[in-house]
Amino acid sequence: MKDFGPLPCPIDLRAIREENEPLYQRGLSLFEEGKVGEVRRLDVGLFSAKVTGKGGVYRVSVLLNRGGIAVHECECQAHRRYPGPCKHVIALLLKIKEEFPAPPSEEGDEFGDGECADFSSDLTGDQ
Ligand SMILES: [Zn+2]
Repeated sequence: MKDFGPLPCPIDLRAIREENEPLYQRGLSLFEEGKVGEVRRLDVGLFSAKVTGKGGVYRVSVLLNRGGIAVHECECQAHRRYPGPCKHVIALLLKIKEEFPAPPSEEGDEFGDGECADFSSDLTGDQ
């Protein structure tokens, strides 16, 4: 496999999780049960894999850029019907997070969120 280096952005699933915890848990189950097939990295931020769900096997793709998750696609019904990511997308993101190195932190932020994070003033406001 071609070596594209670290991910363009840390994969942060907190927002997805806060939005829909049950959905996140279903994605986590798929991931933990090994339903995500081999992840193919097609470009620096472009990943694709087949995820086995109840209704069949779905091809899932995600595109990451420096701002985070730019595009996600899945062949399942739920993904067509609802605007957010489906559980298969979440499962793939968890797998990518496990398999590929996160980008190096630019500001010594030990949590690795760097410039991709939305919050910034919470921890540094009082001086
Ligand atoms: Zn799906």
